[in-house]
Formats: sequence, structure tokens, C-alpha cells
Amino acid sequence: MRQLIDKLKANRVLSEDEFTELIEKASEEDREYLFSQSRELAGKYYGNGIYTRGLIEISNYCKNDCYYCGIRKSNEKASRYRLTEEEILSCCEVGYELGFRTFVMQGGEDGYYTDDRMAHIISRIRSAYPDCAITLSLGERSKESYQRFFDAGANRYLLRHETADEAHYKALHPQNLSAAHRKQCLFWLKEAGFQVGSGFMVGSPGQTARHLAKDLLFLKELGPQMVGIGPFIRHQDTPFAKYESGSMEQTLLMIGILRLMFPNILIPATTALGTIHPFGREKGVLAGANVVMPNLSPLDVRKKYMLYDNKISSGVEAAEGLADLEQRMEEIGYHLLVDRGDCKKE
Ligand code: SAH
Repeated sequence: MRQLIDKLKANRVLSEDEFTELIEKASEEDREYLFSQSRELAGKYYGNGIYTRGLIEISNYCKNDCYYCGIRKSNEKASRYRLTEEEILSCCEVGYELGFRTFVMQGGEDGYYTDDRMAHIISRIRSAYPDCAITLSLGERSKESYQRFFDAGANRYLLRHETADEAHYKALHPQNLSAAHRKQCLFWLKEAGFQVGSGFMVGSPGQTARHLAKDLLFLKELGPQMVGIGPFIRHQDTPFAKYESGSMEQTLLMIGILRLMFPNILIPATTALGTIHPFGREKGVLAGANVVMPNLSPLDVRKKYMLYDNKISSGVEAAEGLADLEQRMEEIGYHLLVDRGDCKKE
């Protein structure tokens, strides 16, 4: 197995069979070996610095019905909200004071945010905070829409491909959605000029090691600037309520592998990882992650953006908990940076 890890480090890619073997069979010792390499690579590009992003969850209205997601259209128990332009701008104001230099606007696919409305919000943030990066995570839209957002001043877009395998994609989503179209959106985003982030859930229902291997190979083809992954966590009011959640161990292994594949990219220690284990975020960093995304949404809506059960949104997960998060990063030898946090060149 060590040979395979060394080969991955040297070539930055493996075959589908080799990835599958590594994912299925890596022992505790192999994983530690891999993490020592992935940590070192992250350190080579980013030192002990961890970038922060202020996450603003702008809406939990969604026209889609993804089987795993708590804010899916059919979940009648979800109490819906959307933020106004003024509310979003005041989140940015609070966030800037706290030291965030990237704002991430994420939401369900909410038709209220037309291209006009969204472009207006983006250009206001762009002129108020010229030194900040604006990241969007608003799902699938048209090529023209992506171009407008970029031209209005947005810099980055996060759109997880979720799973690269078409049949598995169909098992997780309503039949009107496809992996092919999701991937197409990612290439449109690149063409529009965005720094692009993709990713997938680990341990989603029906996922095999081979699916994960395909996810890695798709990412190699895409060449993203950021990859966000987290364990699947069930939500009680979805069709997947009875499925087991993904494991922290497998998520960490995938973070380590991603770092060996893409030494210089941005890899967040995600909220889902922090949700399944009290030290998930720290363990993510020690496996090669270099970004954290605390929640900047207004307090009264945080509990409503419930993608999965028990999603954390207070304590060190919250923007107000930044001092605690800083302390916890220092305990493992890292520190938070006040920085836009762009992807370093190779
Ligand atoms: N509507 C946007 C944002 C989706 S929420 C979009 O389509 O990109 C951001 C991410 O949360 C999703 O991409 C998905 O990977 C993750 N997510 C959703 N439900 C989840 C669950 N039950 N467990 C873990 N992650 C989940």
C-alpha cells in the first residue's frame, strides 16, 4: 500500500483500480503515512496558515428535491426563509469586522434570486469590499447567468459534482437532474472565468469505493481550485432518513488523497466533518485541509438551513466563535489568516 501512496504522490493520480484498492484497503498505518505526506504538502504551499471564509446562507427555498438534502422542495417541515439584499450586506459588514476577506453566498435553487437581483447584490458587495473575494454556491444555472455573476464581480463558485457516476447520481437525485449536466455547469463556470470548487459527499447511500475513485478521476479532469468534501449525514425528513451516515475516517482518507493529487488547492475542513465529530475540523486540517468556513448567517435563520440532522451552527462553527476556533487551530500548530486566500500557483 505504501508503494501506491508513493506512486500517487509522484504522479498525482492513480488508475481507477488503484484508487479503488487504496480507498478500500488502506490500514490505519497506511493512513497515517498518507497524512504525514499530505500535511507536509499543504505546509509547503500554505505553511501553518488556515484561510477563513464567511458563509452566508442566503435562502433555504429550493426547487430541487435531492433525496439526501434537508431543504429539498418536498420537505414541508422545513421553515423557509430568504435574506434580503440589506441583510446580506449587513452580514458582510459584520464579517469584514471579524476579519473575513471572502464571503460565500450559498443557498437552495431559489427562483427569487433572478440574474438581475443577484447581479445587483454582487456588484454592491464588490464595490463595498474591493479587497474581498466573492464566492457563490447557488447550484445549477445557465451559462449566461454564470457569466453575468462573474462580470458583476464574483470570483469563485462552489458546485459539488456530488458523484461522478451517472447511475449513482440518479440514485441520489430526482430523474430530471443528471451528473452530465452538473459537470457541464462546472465547465461553464470555468469558461466564465471563475475559480471553481467542486466535491462530493462521502458515504452517501449506495456509494462504493469505485464511485469514489471515479470522483477523484473526474476532479483530475476538471482541475478545480477548491475541493470540498464531507460525510453524508442523514436528515430525518428526507427519503434517506434511515441510511447510515458516512464515516469520518473515510472522509479524512479522501482529504489526504485529494491533497496528494492537488498539492496547491484549497480544501476546506467542512461543517459536516465538524458535525460528525467534535474534533472533525482539526482532524481535517491534520489530513491536509487548509480552509474553514464559519457561519455568518443571521442568528435567527441558522437553524433553518438544516441540510442534515444536528448541523452545527454555533460555537466554533459560528463567525462569533472565531476566537475559539483560532485557539483550537493553535492547539494543533496552525493559525487563522486574515486574507482573501486565493489558490496558490504551482
Ligand atoms: N444548492 C446549492 C448548495 C447546496 S448545499 C448547490 O446545488 O450546490 C451544499 C452541499 O451540502 C451540497 O452540495 C451537498 O454536497 C451537501 N449536503 C446536502 N445535504 C447533505 C447531507 N444530508 N449530508 C451531507 N452533506 C449534504
